[in-house]
Amino acid sequence: MSALQSLNDTELTDKIKSLAREERELTRNIIEHIAEIDRRKTFLAMAYSSLFEYLTKEIGYSEGAAQRRIDAARLLQRVPEVAEKIEVGTLNLAQISKLQRTMRLAKRDGRKIEVSDQRAILEKLEHRSGEQTDLILAKEFALPVQIEERKQIQRDESVRVELTFSKEEMALINQARDILSNKTGGGLKKTMLEMAGKIVAERAAAGRTRKAVIARASSTATVAVKMPAPVKTAPAATATERPPVSAPRTLTPRLRKDILNRDRCCQYRDKTTGRVCGSTRFLEVDHVQPRFAGGSNATENLRILCRNHNGYRYWAEQQT
Ligand SMILES: [Zn+2]
Repeated sequence: MSALQSLNDTELTDKIKSLAREERELTRNIIEHIAEIDRRKTFLAMAYSSLFEYLTKEIGYSEGAAQRRIDAARLLQRVPEVAEKIEVGTLNLAQISKLQRTMRLAKRDGRKIEVSDQRAILEKLEHRSGEQTDLILAKEFALPVQIEERKQIQRDESVRVELTFSKEEMALINQARDILSNKTGGGLKKTMLEMAGKIVAERAAAGRTRKAVIARASSTATVAVKMPAPVKTAPAATATERPPVSAPRTLTPRLRKDILNRDRCCQYRDKTTGRVCGSTRFLEVDHVQPRFAGGSNATENLRILCRNHNGYRYWAEQQT
C-alpha cells in the first residue's frame, strides 16, 4: 500500500492544504524571480527576444503559464503587495492576468490607470471567482473584454484563426480586398493569402538580387562597396581600417532592405552560450559601432536586431 493510500480522509485533506500553501509560497517566489529577471533583462543577455520566449523555451512553461507569470511579475513591479496576496491565496494568477489584459486594452484605448486605482481594483478582486473577476473588471473599465486573436492548431496542422478588427481596420482590409478582387474573387482569406504571397516573394527576389550582386562583386570588391544608389563606387581595397568613404550618410530604405535581406533575423548573440536570438519580428537595423561614436553606415557596421535587443544593447552599455 502506498504512503498516500494509508492516510485517512482528514490526513489527506490536511496534507493537500499544506501542499497548496507551499505551492503558493513557491509561486510567489517564482514571480519575484521573474520580476528580477525582467528588471535585469537577463533573457535578452541570453539571446532570447522576450521574457515570454525565455520562460517557454529556457524554463519550460506552457504559453499560458508563462503569460500569467509575466503578468503577475509586471504587476508586482508597480504594486509590490500583490506578492503577499498571491502567497496567502486571496488573489490568484488567473485573476491578475485578467486584470493586466484588461488594462492593456484600456491603455490601447488611450486611458491611463493610476496605480492607486489599480490597488483599489485589486482589493475588489480578492477572494473572487473567475466569473466574478470578469464582471468586476467589465464594470470597472466599462470595456467589452474582447479577444483580439484566437488561434487553434487542428489535427491536420491546419490553423483556425478568429480575429477581431476595429471598424477602421476592417475598412482598410476591405480596400485591399477590392483592389485585389480581380485576382482573388474578393474573398477575405484569398486576399490575405495574396498579400502574404506578394510580400514573401518580394523579399525572396530581393535576396536573390543581392546574392547575385555579391557573387559578381566577390572577386573584386568587399560587400561594402556594392551598396546601391547614393554610394560612390569605391575601389576594392578601401574597406578595412577606417569606415569606407563609400558608406552612405543616411540609412536609406534601400540600405535597410539590403541589411534585412542579408541578416534576415536578429543577430544578437549570447557571448557565453553562443545562442543567437534569431527572432524574425520587429526587426531593426543597428549600428555595431554607434553613430554617435563615429560608426558609419557601411554594411559591415550594420546588423539586424529585434526591437528588444536593439534597446537592450544600449541599456546594457549604460549599466557598465
Ligand atoms: Zn533579438
